[in-house]
Amino acid sequence: MKFTVAIVGRPNVGKSTLFNRLIGKRLAIVDDRPGVTRDRRYGAGRLGDLDFTVIDTAGLEDVHDDSLESRMRDQTEQAVNSAQVALLVIDARTGVTALDEHFARQLRKRRTPVILVANKSEGKAGQAGAMEAYGLGLGTPIAISAEHGEGMGDLYDAMQPFV
Ligand code: GDP
Ligand code: MG
Repeated sequence: MKFTVAIVGRPNVGKSTLFNRLIGKRLAIVDDRPGVTRDRRYGAGRLGDLDFTVIDTAGLEDVHDDSLESRMRDQTEQAVNSAQVALLVIDARTGVTALDEHFARQLRKRRTPVILVANKSEGKAGQAGAMEAYGLGLGTPIAISAEHGEGMGDLYDAMQPFV
C-alpha cells in the first residue's frame, strides 16, 4: 500500500498551496464519488526521496453556514482515516485561532500521527504564531512557507519516520 499523507486545517491557512508544492507538476486527481467531488483532491506527492499519496481537503472555503463545522469534521475524518500521517496546517501570521484548536482537539483523539505545520513562516512575521502553536499540544511545529518553498527540509525530516 502506498503511504498517504492528509493535509488538514481550517480554510485559508495554505493547505492547497502546500498540496500543489508537494505534487509539483504531477496532476491531482479529484475524488469523483458523489458528494465528495469538490471536497478532496489526491495527488502523487514527492519530497526529496519520499514518494506518497497526498490528500488536500478542499471545498470548504465556499461554505459559510452552520454546516461548515460538521463538513470540516467529516472532511478531516475521512482524509485522516485513509492516511498514515496528518499534516495539521496553521497560519503562523495569524497565530492560533479557535478553529485551529478545534482541529487540534479532533486530531488528538485519533491514533493517526500528526505533524503540526506552521505555514506562512517566511520572514519574521510567523515567529510568534509558531511559538503559540506549541500550545496545541501536538509537538514541535514545523515552520514552513508553502508559497516560497521554505522549511521543506524540516518537513522532510518530520515525515520520514512515518513513511
Ligand atoms: P487553503 O484554504 O488552506 O487551501 O489555503 P490556500 O492554499 O488556498 O492559501 C490561502 C492564501 O494563503 C492564498 O492567498 C495563498 O497565496 C496564501 N499562502 C499560502 N501559503 C503561503 C505562504 O507560505 N506564505 C504566505 N505569505 N501566504 C501563503
Ligand atoms: Mg484549499
